Amino acid sequence: MQTLAFWILLLTFMGAFAAQVARRVQLIAAAPNTFSLDRLGFRTTRFVVDVLLQRRTIKERPVTGLMHAFVFWGFAAFGGYTLTEFLFGLGIVDLTHAGWFHAYRLALTPFAVAVLVGILYLLIRRAFVRPVALGTTVSVESIVIALFIATLMITFLLTFRLDEGTMAERVNWWVHATVILAFMALIPASKHLHLVLSPITVFLKSPELGNLPNLDFEKEQVGLETVKDLGSKIVLDAFTCVECGRCQVNCPAWGAGKALNPKTIVLQTQAALLAGERDRKLGEIYSEDVLWQCTTCGACENQCPVGIEHLPILIGARRGLASNGDAPDYLGAMYNNLERRSNIWGLGYDQRTKFVVASELETFDPAKHDVLVWLGCAGSFDADFQKSLKSLFGILRAYEVTFGVLSKERCTGDPAKRTGNEYMFQELANGNIEDLKAAGPKKILTSCPHCVKTIGDDYRKFGYEVEIVHSSVYVEELTRGAGINAAGAGINSGPDKVTFHDPCYLGRYAGKVDEPRALLERFGADISEVERNRENPYCCGAGGGLLFSDKDEEPGTRISDVRFKQLNATGANVVVTACPFCSIMLKGAGASAQSDTQFVDLMTYVNGKLQPRA
Ligand code: SF4
Ligand code: SF4
Repeated sequence: MQTLAFWILLLTFMGAFAAQVARRVQLIAAAPNTFSLDRLGFRTTRFVVDVLLQRRTIKERPVTGLMHAFVFWGFAAFGGYTLTEFLFGLGIVDLTHAGWFHAYRLALTPFAVAVLVGILYLLIRRAFVRPVALGTTVSVESIVIALFIATLMITFLLTFRLDEGTMAERVNWWVHATVILAFMALIPASKHLHLVLSPITVFLKSPELGNLPNLDFEKEQVGLETVKDLGSKIVLDAFTCVECGRCQVNCPAWGAGKALNPKTIVLQTQAALLAGERDRKLGEIYSEDVLWQCTTCGACENQCPVGIEHLPILIGARRGLASNGDAPDYLGAMYNNLERRSNIWGLGYDQRTKFVVASELETFDPAKHDVLVWLGCAGSFDADFQKSLKSLFGILRAYEVTFGVLSKERCTGDPAKRTGNEYMFQELANGNIEDLKAAGPKKILTSCPHCVKTIGDDYRKFGYEVEIVHSSVYVEELTRGAGINAAGAGINSGPDKVTFHDPCYLGRYAGKVDEPRALLERFGADISEVERNRENPYCCGAGGGLLFSDKDEEPGTRISDVRFKQLNATGANVVVTACPFCSIMLKGAGASAQSDTQFVDLMTYVNGKLQPRA
């Protein structure tokens, strides 16, 4: 009788589970396939570290993350126990009296206690502490799920106290089994679906942060315009969100009071998919204004513990808007500059030539030069950044590195790519790739982290592979070890108290955080660390085309003003930067605040300290 009742319960709850999962599977299957399984070794390692060992979950929020890890590890450990008890309950096979099962149950005891501690901690945090990342309303569903998990652990622990065959033991067994079934039925329609989906999303997440595959114009791809254009990974991601808010609290746009919230973007995607709004325009769902507020800093997808990728949604939707001519006016002007003069400021090419001549730069020749220095738009046309590049040339010459430049350079296309103007990006990229192939460098050196990303990652998608290094990394290696004479002329006398602003495209995208610091310390700096540093910096606000936005029309606070305040709070009067765009934004913020803080590019700092070698 009990067996029959259990079969009926199981089939009922399994049916509810299957029906809800089928709906989601159907939506994923109907989406254009964007799943990719390249770099399997990297994906497997990341799966072990981020899913099995819960690194990402623990890293940013150590206590909460550890409590979550206790629950996760407990779930994994209880898998065999639940299966064995269900096989018994269904009358299929009774293994509950086997010697190994007793040993297994005993081994589960510490897991049960850890899960209990973990889930009670998470319950209190969610119901009473309610951090801003979790939203303002208490989720009843989360409370119910937490109570379910606690009940499962308590009923498990009670099995050691209750004699087999007694009424109390039977009731305890039924409560345990029924809660598991109810839990299963609740999961698909809740954020707890991440229990099932997150191992898959983490495995399928691109190894490259901010991965934006090229559009194929021959297949008439124009970007994401409506819900039905969303690719399968985006759809899977939308059902995996656990609503933890890590993306939200790390988003510089949200932090500066703008309407953009990456968590909301994912949840809006989920709602539109479940509502079957296949033809609804994405610009309407997210709001066009919101889509243009993203700096593409990558904090959201880098922090997400379940492998959700936000940038393919945000930039994919920008592509859809840009292809219909719906980009903001300030971008129209920049695109015009790119189209006419191949640089973001639309300046005449003679200005680059003047700089090249004045700096005595040779045209790159692989037989003669160690590296090709890529100037970038800022290096070619921004007088301020040209001083930094002259410092780089000074360092290279001091260390007898031979280098040359291309006789002609176009913008890499980064601002076009990140703002969704894929056609313009591909035009620029193809021209540059042709010139680079003809020049034949083995190594490219640049002071622009955006150029590192674009030439290194985006050009690779056209089949052009080259080693590209940021100057901080190159010069750190160059000046390592003997032969440094770094005393003397500095910005201040004695060790300079400096703070270093990690550019998003250097610290987060390229993971280069130790090299700039090693360089600064080697050359006498006393570094005072700013909040939001290293691999998770707070953006300067320039990326994603926002360098060109009109600051008076920007909603909320300027991102650069928020960052400047953080840098100022370190007490350092020298801010060292390593990206031309960060430099422009932060200098602007410093000027608005009428601050006497000095902004120095890393290469200028090092060159200022460098004494001629004996
Ligand atoms: S990339 Fe940066 S600015 Fe854009 S949504 Fe993500 S965190 Fe916010
Ligand atoms: S997208 Fe990721 S980081 Fe953001 S709320 Fe969802 S699970 Fe958390």
